[in-house]
Amino acid sequence: MNVADSGHMAGILKQDGYEITQNEAAADVVLLNTCSIRDLAEEKVFSKLGELKERKVDEPNLVLGVCGCMATNLKKGIFKRAPYVDILCGPRSSKHLPRMINDVFEKGRSQVEVEPNEALEEFLPSVRESAFKAWVNITQGCDERCTYCVVPNTRGDQASRQPQSIIDEIKGLAEQGYKEVTLLGQTVNAYGLELAEPYPFSKLIESIQAIDGIEWIRFVTSHPKYVTPDFIEMFAKFPKVAPFLHLPYQAGSNRILKRMARRYTREEYIEKINALRAACPDLNLSTDIIVGFPEETEEEFQETLDVYKEAQFDSSFCFKYSQRPNTPAMNFKDTVPEAVKKERLERLLALQKEIAYVRNLKNLGKVHRVLFENVGRKEGSLRGHNQYNQVVISSGGPELIGQFRDVLIVENSPMTLYGEIKN
Ligand code: SAH
Ligand code: SF4
Repeated sequence: MNVADSGHMAGILKQDGYEITQNEAAADVVLLNTCSIRDLAEEKVFSKLGELKERKVDEPNLVLGVCGCMATNLKKGIFKRAPYVDILCGPRSSKHLPRMINDVFEKGRSQVEVEPNEALEEFLPSVRESAFKAWVNITQGCDERCTYCVVPNTRGDQASRQPQSIIDEIKGLAEQGYKEVTLLGQTVNAYGLELAEPYPFSKLIESIQAIDGIEWIRFVTSHPKYVTPDFIEMFAKFPKVAPFLHLPYQAGSNRILKRMARRYTREEYIEKINALRAACPDLNLSTDIIVGFPEETEEEFQETLDVYKEAQFDSSFCFKYSQRPNTPAMNFKDTVPEAVKKERLERLLALQKEIAYVRNLKNLGKVHRVLFENVGRKEGSLRGHNQYNQVVISSGGPELIGQFRDVLIVENSPMTLYGEIKN
C-alpha cells in the first residue's frame, strides 16, 4: 500500500510539473513516505531525517516532507524531534502536496495536513514502476479496531471508492497493456460495505473479471471475518482470480484473538481456509502473525504454532508485538519480555521454513504460468511471478518481459523457484 501511495504522490506532483529523480542528492523536494505499524519503522525514519538535516545546512531551499502514517500518528510531535521538516502530509492528504510545497516558499515552513478522515478522492493519478502489473487502491482506512493496530488512527475510517471509478481505472490500465491488477485495501474484502449503496467485493471482482486484457486479479489484505461464501466461491468461479490469498490470523489462541479484537476464533479461521482449499485445491496461502502480544503465555504461543501446522501456510510475515501509542492495547501491559518475543519469533520462523520447504517440493515437475517482469541477476535470466505469487527465475531474453509463459519448475529454494520456459 505504501508503494502504491508513493506512486500517487509522484503522480500528483508529476501532473503539477515536477520530475522524479533516482538521485536523492539532486532532489529539490524530498518526501519520505512513512509507516507507523511498529516502533522500529518510525525510528528508521527519524534516522533518515537526521541524515537529511545535514543537507539542509548547505541547501536552505531543500523542501523536506514527512508523508504517510507517521504524519497522522505523531502530527506536530515530528517537529519536536525534527524541527527542520517543512511538510507533514497524511496518507489521505496527498492531493495537497503541490500547494503545500508552494506554501513552504510563499508562507513559510511547517505546512501541515494530517486529517486521517480526509474525504476520499475517487481517482488519483499514479506513477507506476511496471508497465504490466498495477496496484489499485479500492478502499482507504479501516473500520476494524484490532487492539494492537495504529492504522485506524493513521488512515481513518474505511471509505470505498465507487465501483464504476475502479472499473474505469482498470479498463484504462488494460488499454495501456496492463495484465495484472492487485486491489489494495486494509480489509480489502470488506470493500463496498459502507457505501450508500453497498456493493460486495465479489461483485466488484466479477466486473473486473469481464475486462479484456486483464489476466490476473489479486488483492491484499483480506480479513477472515469477511471470508464469506461468495468470497470463497470467487476462487472457483472466476478464472482470473489468481490462486493466492494473504489471510492474516495473527494468533492461535482464542483468548488472545479476543483481546486483539480480531472477531473470529481459531476454529472459524481453520474452517474458512478448509472451505477455501475445497474451492481452490492449489490455493497458495500466506499469513501475518504477531508473537508476544500482552500476556501471551507459552501455551498460547504453542497454539499459534499449532494453527500454523494445521493450516500449512506457504509463506508468512511474522512480527514481534510492538506497543503503539493511542491503540486500545495500550491498556494492556506489554508483559512479554523482549527476549521471549525474540525466541518465539525464531521458533515460528523455523517452523515457517520447514513447512515452506516441504510445500515447495510439490512444485517440482509442474508447469506454472509466469508473468516475466525483469531480467534476473544472472546474465540471460528472467525474473517473474507465477500464479501463486512466487518468484520464478528462468533463462530467457528481455523480449519476454511483460509476457506470460508456461514454465516447467525444475529447482526449488525456500523463496524462489527455477524453471525452463515450455511455451
Ligand atoms: N490491514 C492489514 C495489514 C495491517 S498491518 C491486516 O489487517 O492484515 C500488517 C501487519 O502488521 C498486521 O497483519 C500485523 O500482523 C502486523 N502488526 C500490526 N500492528 C502491529 C503491532 N502493533 N505490533 C506488531 N505487529 C503489528
Ligand atoms: Fe489494523 Fe486490524 Fe485494520 Fe488490519 S484489520 S489495518 S490489523 S485494525
